[in-house]
Amino acid sequence: MKSIITILVFALAAMAGVFNFTWEPLDVEFSTLEIQAKGAVVKTIEAEEGIFPEGAEVIESYYVVPEGCISCQICVGQCPVDAITMDDNDLAVIDPEICINCGICASGCPTSTIELLDADDCALYGIDAEGNSVLLQEELEED
Ligand code: SF4
Ligand code: SF4
Repeated sequence: MKSIITILVFALAAMAGVFNFTWEPLDVEFSTLEIQAKGAVVKTIEAEEGIFPEGAEVIESYYVVPEGCISCQICVGQCPVDAITMDDNDLAVIDPEICINCGICASGCPTSTIELLDADDCALYGIDAEGNSVLLQEELEED
């Protein structure tokens, strides 16, 4: 039985896609860019030699909408691949590099605050010197 579950799990992982977002060249002072969805950071982009790339790949993964998380940690115990941890604010965070998109956590979350990433929810932000998020582009183009 376990081997069947393992096969299914890896089949789901193989189905996981990516979004290839692009944007116009940025002339900004920020040290970091973030792609966020509903308040969750789904991609962090550092400048290389002071220049930001004009696009980024984002894994189509489940993620936690921070506003709805009540820190119950049910999802942490349910995830079959240990992709979920609690952050410094005691909110659940999913590592998209580990998540295999099985959806178990989304089904078990008592506040339904775990969602599959949708390109329409993604926006580009810059992080200012005080650590605040500044909206740079609300709608991102896909390659
Ligand atoms: S199950 Fe939902 S509410 Fe509980 S820690 Fe996970 S994301 Fe937060
Ligand atoms: S969908 Fe949720 S339970 Fe499944 S692997 Fe991803 S984080 Fe873990």
